[in-house]
Amino acid sequence: MSQVHVGAHPGRIEVITGPMFSGKSEELIRRLKRAQIAKLRVICFKPDLDARYHRTAIASHSSQTLEAITVANVEALKAELFPVIDQIEVIGVDETQFFDASLLPLSLELVHLGKRVILAGLDTTFAGEPFPPVPDLMAVSDEVTKLSAVCMQCGAPAIHTQRLGSNQSLVLVGAAGLYEARCRRCFRPYVDEQGAKQLELPTGADQVPPSP
Ligand code: ADP
Ligand code: MG
Ligand code: ZN
Repeated sequence: MSQVHVGAHPGRIEVITGPMFSGKSEELIRRLKRAQIAKLRVICFKPDLDARYHRTAIASHSSQTLEAITVANVEALKAELFPVIDQIEVIGVDETQFFDASLLPLSLELVHLGKRVILAGLDTTFAGEPFPPVPDLMAVSDEVTKLSAVCMQCGAPAIHTQRLGSNQSLVLVGAAGLYEARCRRCFRPYVDEQGAKQLELPTGADQVPPSP
């Protein structure tokens, strides 16, 4: 009987996504720790602009930590990973949204090597738009876990990350009080010029049809 058999362990790409405070890092740490308990060899990376808690670990808002290697970009991640790739079964990445699009071909390469790749990151920006490269990674993954947080205004399940105040930089990271989780109803992505007032999302009803 003929068999298509690429390797003993087929690889797997898992994406853990959702807004800030939804428990992505917690879930990534949980999966990686379980893999370690199963005696699988684990390596974890995070981008170096997330210096919130530890430069040598990933951390959740609930203070769970796991050893991680801080890397500047995907090239630096590869430079750390490939020399030890034969000794690694599970590769974790936190704050995936801060890596560039080359994480996608790298993830596919790793999965073809039979690795389990677990990617945690924001699916949307503070403007409520898809946050590359996470949506593309979701598309090629085996499994997507989309978590919600708790809306800090009303307590409903929250899918959005609200930027508080007027700083519109995309990669401003983590400082306490700068972001909160919001549901669709409470989310206010646009801020007026003085940063004084968070404006409503334009709705379809407000839109004037284009003139012919
Ligand atoms: P993420 O990586 O998605 O930002 P973390 O795993 O770091 O999330 O943190 C999740 C933890 O944050 C929760 O278990 C809870 O203790 C705490 N937390 C703080 N604010 C909220 C919120 N608005 N909704 C849910 N959890 C929150
Ligand atoms: Mg996190
Ligand atoms: Zn709400």
